[in-house]
Amino acid sequence: MKIDNSRSYFKQAQEVIPGGVNSPVRACKSVGCDPLFVKKASGSKIIDVDNNEYIDFVCSWGPMILGHNHPKVVAALEKALANGTSYGAPTPLEIELAQAVIKAFPSMDKVRFVSSGTEATMSAIRLARGYTGKNVVVKFDGCYHGHADSFLVQAGSGVITLGIPGSPGVPDDIVKNTISIPYNDLEILEKTLTDGSLEIACVIIEPVAGNMGVVPPAEGFLQKLRDLTSQQNIVLIFDEVITGFRLALGGAQSRFGIAPDLTCLGKIIGGGLPVGAYGGKNEIMAKIAPEGPVYQAGTLSGNPLAMAAGVATLQVLSEPGFYDRLEKKAEDFAGELQKLADKHLPGKTTLNRVGSMMTRFFNMGPVFDFKSAMGSDTEMYGRFFRAMLAGGIWLAPSQFEAAFISDAHSQDDLAQALEMTESSFKKIKK
Ligand SMILES: *Cc1c(COP(=O)(O)O)cnc(C)c1O
Repeated sequence: MKIDNSRSYFKQAQEVIPGGVNSPVRACKSVGCDPLFVKKASGSKIIDVDNNEYIDFVCSWGPMILGHNHPKVVAALEKALANGTSYGAPTPLEIELAQAVIKAFPSMDKVRFVSSGTEATMSAIRLARGYTGKNVVVKFDGCYHGHADSFLVQAGSGVITLGIPGSPGVPDDIVKNTISIPYNDLEILEKTLTDGSLEIACVIIEPVAGNMGVVPPAEGFLQKLRDLTSQQNIVLIFDEVITGFRLALGGAQSRFGIAPDLTCLGKIIGGGLPVGAYGGKNEIMAKIAPEGPVYQAGTLSGNPLAMAAGVATLQVLSEPGFYDRLEKKAEDFAGELQKLADKHLPGKTTLNRVGSMMTRFFNMGPVFDFKSAMGSDTEMYGRFFRAMLAGGIWLAPSQFEAAFISDAHSQDDLAQALEMTESSFKKIKK
């Protein structure tokens, strides 16, 4: 595989951008190679600047559930573009997207749009603190909620991938208001949430974890969390930045039948443009400025191009049968992957899947929390990643991320991915 152009761009990028990338995991450090620079993408395919073509299972880390450059999203963008790109004043498109979001998520009466998942989670905890008058945030080890100070304690995603234990630059005063506890541990959960001396404002969770690799909630875990937070007057925040519109139109909360107090959205909601959102019941949302005293603002929030892409994406996702089709495709694919693993690497890997998000851990499993995820052989993942990439399959450059199936993945794409998986498994077991 010729990657001379990517190499040359990476060299130039490193001179002007820290590490040559604008988000750390993209640098591919943990899988032992340099990043490929992208020229363009369409449907299930991504093409790099050396004209190599790949079947894309990263899907821009989740947003591209319809595949790249979906014609309906492109048409909506072109239409919006003709009217200008930003006004700093409200537009009808914001109402349209808000109505679609609230329809999909009955736990929300109102929603506020921001420009990233990080902004959504950061604003949601400020709101929870303002609403309850308490300061402590409880999160779970290995969950990632963006890069705001309060969340960089035992965080997932790039923080694990790069082996950063917390982050310099985060003041101790902030860390002391964050408590991080193990995912799926009912006993510690109960002990923490019922300790009145802790002054807990909110609990934030990925209802299906996606940033330590995919880790589903244990049976009864989310229900217990809902019951305890209700009893203790603690605001329950579901960070559905990945799972929203991914696991169902109404996200993990509709799939598991648990309504949180606040929900954070991102990724898919912008149809590939930068959008985040947070929302909940009127009683809490009324505290947000200008209705209430909790301040949160954004120059480009509700940007018309981003709203247009979001509206068009949600329209396609709302078509009957969309999620059943995606689920079936992902389930069949995962089944075939498992057969290959059983044949070539028996007892060496674990596949976790919920809907169209999945992770193969190079770990005998079960993987149910941060600690068990960390038992994975990341060096073996690196070899697997490189073998797959050389065979034209674009996976996340980290063991601790999800692979996503999109509506654009054809049966041919998946058959090709299975074939490459088999030959990569054979290669790495030697
Ligand atoms: C990606 C992600 C975020 C952060 O979103 P950005 O748009 O990258 O700021 C927050 N929470 C979860 C669960 C995510 O996966």
